Amino acid sequence: MARQLIIEFSAQVTTFADLGLSDDLLKAIQDVGYTTPTPIQEQAIPHVLMMRDVLGCAQTGTGKTAGFTLPMIEMLANGRARARMPRSLILEPTRELATQVAENFRTYGKYHKLTMALLIGGETMGAQISSLDRGVDVLIATPGRMIDLFERGKIMLNDIKIFVIDEADRMLDMGFIPDVEKIASLLPPLKQTLFFSATMPPEIRKLADRFLKNPKTVTVSPPASTAVNIRQVLINLPSGDDWQKREALRTLLRRENVQNAFIFCNRKRDVALLHKSLQKHGFNVGALHGDMDQSSRTETLEKFRSGGITFLACSDVAARGLDIADVSHVFNFDVPFNAEDYVHRIGRTGRAGKNGTSYTLVTPDDGKQVAAIEHLIKQKIEREVIADLPAPDPQARPRREVASPRGRRARPPRSDSRRSTPREQEPRIAPVATLAPPPTIVPPQERVVRETPAPKAAAAGFGDNLPAFLRRPVVISKGSA
Ligand code: AMP
Repeated sequence: MARQLIIEFSAQVTTFADLGLSDDLLKAIQDVGYTTPTPIQEQAIPHVLMMRDVLGCAQTGTGKTAGFTLPMIEMLANGRARARMPRSLILEPTRELATQVAENFRTYGKYHKLTMALLIGGETMGAQISSLDRGVDVLIATPGRMIDLFERGKIMLNDIKIFVIDEADRMLDMGFIPDVEKIASLLPPLKQTLFFSATMPPEIRKLADRFLKNPKTVTVSPPASTAVNIRQVLINLPSGDDWQKREALRTLLRRENVQNAFIFCNRKRDVALLHKSLQKHGFNVGALHGDMDQSSRTETLEKFRSGGITFLACSDVAARGLDIADVSHVFNFDVPFNAEDYVHRIGRTGRAGKNGTSYTLVTPDDGKQVAAIEHLIKQKIEREVIADLPAPDPQARPRREVASPRGRRARPPRSDSRRSTPREQEPRIAPVATLAPPPTIVPPQERVVRETPAPKAAAAGFGDNLPAFLRRPVVISKGSA
């Protein structure tokens, strides 16, 4: 009855107590220091408590995790789990997100006696199986490990009362939807389902229609919007030469007052290369990508979180949902293939209302991807060029178009990233401590950028391809223009 009243007067809801949460939860919330519910919490919590299915369109950073964990704790507080028969299941696309949700449960559930198990790949199954044997109220899992344990007969899913699919669009991108559908088919028909996605493309909408019964839809920010407190800058580079890109990145890292930063690459192997290169240049950097074993991933993330590492070279595994407060910068070493990934990447900074800055290195080949990003975020992004950027080595291999391995837009191979080149072994710029003044960055209005007239036909001796150094724009400062 009390909850019904809250729904009816939801326009006036401003405190957690008003949402119908019990004293133990309110105490835990107070301990973390939250004073008022975020919009997603305000809108979702009463409906979850009413046992309604919920379709939540919300990005990470909006307080969505507490939006489902708080009412779940409330509802699971009464009742006990039986061995191997969890009472609720939360599916997350990555191990990091699953771990983060588990931490949320620990934080908010500190005055409750709920049991929890985290089933993620990359860790031994023994401990996970023993916790299942003891009976768990909340099971948080990545889809692959979940199916694996089910097929080994270690879990029974017929007592699941609350099913949460989090980051559904990410699941789609990562190819997990068949696994999610399989898991859903193993659950009892009578249950409550909460479905969250940052974006609602038609495939996700269809999926939601299949999984949810008469859901309450809550949307807290338009899909794919970027926060206003993040300053976004595109750095226009004259070529796609990787050595020159790394030089540009180093210039930015030295110039900017970076407290800590994610540096995103599109490919895992480039994460490793960039990591090595930055280390060689004296930067305090770690690496994070999906091919690393779980313990190294966890250790690196912890070091980054605690300030032991200033820069984190990473793949998109770190783009979604990682909640690290006070990240001052995000650098996109590569423009992401998917425009939505751009939104997620830069959303790692400017969290909880703080200011953040993102820089994206843009090569002449990236025009289409940049246009897609600007179309998605409905915003023209500020451009800068770096003056005095050393030219790429004209002796560098000519760039060739290659077939994309996964049907993505074909991209030219990196001219010097596949191996350590002599230039890389003998950096032209000294490490930070003995550094000569870095190249200056000049806003575009103060500079004249003259494109070298693009030859209509291919250059003689290079087949269909025009080497990067021939396509490089000639940059002349205004005085001399
Ligand atoms: P999430 O979107 O769930 O990843 O949450 C983003 C961040 O917001 C996390 O650091 C939470 O601890 C924080 N948060 C969640 N709810 C609140 C709240 N009501 N007030 C302040 N911060 C919150």
